[in-house]
Amino acid sequence: MRATVMYGAGDVRVEKVPDARLVERTDALVTITRACICGSDLWPYKKMSRSETGRRMGHEFIGVVEAVGADVRSVKKGDVVVAPFLWSDGTCVFCQEGLHTSCLHGGGWGSPGVDGGQGEAVRVPQADGTLVVLPVGRDDARMASLLTLSDVMCTGHHAALAAKAGPGRTVAVVGDGAVGLCGVIAARRLGAEQIIMLGRHPDRIALARRFGATDIVSERGEAAIERVRALTGGLGAHSVLECVGYDESTRTALSVARAGGAVGRVGVPQDSTVPLASETFFRNITISGGPAPVRAYIEELLPDVLEGRIEPGRVFDRVTNLDGVPDGYCAMNEREAIKVMIEF
Ligand SMILES: [Zn+2]
Repeated sequence: MRATVMYGAGDVRVEKVPDARLVERTDALVTITRACICGSDLWPYKKMSRSETGRRMGHEFIGVVEAVGADVRSVKKGDVVVAPFLWSDGTCVFCQEGLHTSCLHGGGWGSPGVDGGQGEAVRVPQADGTLVVLPVGRDDARMASLLTLSDVMCTGHHAALAAKAGPGRTVAVVGDGAVGLCGVIAARRLGAEQIIMLGRHPDRIALARRFGATDIVSERGEAAIERVRALTGGLGAHSVLECVGYDESTRTALSVARAGGAVGRVGVPQDSTVPLASETFFRNITISGGPAPVRAYIEELLPDVLEGRIEPGRVFDRVTNLDGVPDGYCAMNEREAIKVMIEF
């Protein structure tokens, strides 16, 4: 079969790899029908050191179950399924607490011995605990929005929950990528009335407004902080979603939080320390977040997608096939595309 392999910064190839197949009794074999490129795939694309063997890429996908191992009960051949960006057993102490990202028997797509999502097929470990069956056909019109449940929509939701977004609270979103835009959807869905998006790209601003952003702040750095304060009676936002991961964006997020407010971090940190330790301490800022336990959120958000109340699939502004994946990485890295969907 063919799949996406990264060999170093800027070096993404689509090439022949061993066919995915069942190994464990708890596996499912899934033929991929839709996948996508993630903002977090751009971190290795920017700085991965050269690798002889390469790294299989992709952690967001929807597909059709081709076969299941002897112990699999909850999915069967022919089911259309969505996978979270990590696999998990669904039974350990952390899965039972809804923190599937810390599953004692889980792991990541593309890790040694496990296929990546940007390829023709995947062996899914722990299929019962990982896959969610979608009550739709393989080419359903809502497929783009369903695909966002594998990561970005659930990650935006996680940021909004960590930042305690809700009725009566003002929300600021730092990061105008797919996750930030989904964070706007999530904040609106949780009842926030004032949602301030920090961003400058006209397409992204238009989408943010469509998703429910009430104010746009296009300044950067100190000027952006001043502008958010001005929009919030001089106090700052109750809830801040940090959806980038850089030191500068984290500083902005922490600085625009109101005293007693909460910052939900879902951008993968690119630095080893969290900035503004004493400033956030003296203002009683809650700093929370982490990788979203997507498996816990899919079932919660699925009815909203199926019934059309949210349309996170609008973050996809480019569609390609498997051969177009290297160009897709380039387009997202250059910020020419918000998010690229791969159709098989
Ligand atoms: Zn578990």
